[in-house]
Amino acid sequence: MRYDVTIIGGGVIGCAIARELLRYRLKVILLEQECEVGFGTSKSNSGIIHAGHHDDPRTLKGRLERCGNPSASAAKSRTCLKRSRLRSMPLPPG
Ligand SMILES: Cc1cc2nc3c(=O)[nH]c(=O)nc-3n(C[C@H](O)[C@H](O)[C@H](O)COP(=O)(O)OP(=O)(O)OC[C@H]3O[C@@H](n4cnc5c(N)ncnc54)[C@H](O)[C@@H]3O)c2cc1C
Repeated sequence: MRYDVTIIGGGVIGCAIARELLRYRLKVILLEQECEVGFGTSKSNSGIIHAGHHDDPRTLKGRLERCGNPSASAAKSRTCLKRSRLRSMPLPPG
């Protein structure tokens, strides 16, 4: 069997890429070494969708958090994921 795209690793990143690619006419295969997807680091995450206020917006992490956060709401409406919108309030040190 031939595939257009092979994704190695079924963590949150690999699964998100696979999900995006399913919108195109592509044959996509996702390979995971464990018995189930999400058995790597992704299984232990705390479920926080970072808003971008903790990290310097000049860093890649800060930039991605800011632009990725709204897409989490869009993902919720397309999937069965439940998302609680808990607010956080950053306080200055001291
Ligand atoms: C304790 C903890 C708490 C966290 N809390 C948060 C949080 O609240 N919010 C947040 O945004 N982030 C959090 N993170 C970070 C987040 O969990 C990771 O950044 C994210 O899960 C990484 O996903 P990934 O798909 O890149 O990697 P992984 O989840 O590690 O996925 C990689 C997958 O690739 C597979 N794999 C590796 N090599 C091969 C191979 N050769 N062939 C086939 N499969 C292979 C692995 O088995 C694994 O399933 C937390 C991390 C930790 C450790």
